[in-house]
Amino acid sequence: MRIGVLAVQGAFAEHIAVLKRLGLDAFEIRNTRDIAGDFDGLILPGGESTVMKKLLHDLGLLAPLKAKIENGLPVLGTCAGMILLAKHIDSGESPCFGTMDITVKRNAYGRQLGSFVCREQFAGHEITMRFIRAPYVTKVGHDAEVLAVHDGKIVAVRQKNQLAAAFHPELTDDTTVYNLFLEMLAKT
Ligand code: GLN
Repeated sequence: MRIGVLAVQGAFAEHIAVLKRLGLDAFEIRNTRDIAGDFDGLILPGGESTVMKKLLHDLGLLAPLKAKIENGLPVLGTCAGMILLAKHIDSGESPCFGTMDITVKRNAYGRQLGSFVCREQFAGHEITMRFIRAPYVTKVGHDAEVLAVHDGKIVAVRQKNQLAAAFHPELTDDTTVYNLFLEMLAKT
């Protein structure tokens, strides 16, 4: 399994470290040359979604990656990565990939209380979730499946080949989120 991790900004190194621990072949996506070959999955890390969106556009990565997602490439978006996938942002900002039928609220927990850790169910397993100036999901489309809720707010969703979490699975030791992503990869 070859998995590309968007590496223009944000917490990409942490995702790559987890993938390597799981014995997977992970590589950084920094420009269009990096996505010329075949790969089996894509990770969009946490970071600053507005910066990543601009860089994706400027580097010519936005359209080819969007086409791959639309063609069924399994994708995992965490935190800012979830915002990149969302079709709608509740502030009215324009979407980035806009491939996932969800509406997200950015910095939804406020600036001061924006970072916290909790334990919640994720797709039937209790896991530790680390949130950092995270978004949450305010609306999901009919074919999007809610996988996790914290404090009454949706924090993880799957829609076909797309998996999105408002928290940072790359910053805890629990690999439950990656295991689900790998199941999605195995099915394609
Ligand atoms: N607040 C960031 C944004 O809106 C996301 C934070 C994160 O990825 N840790 O892009």
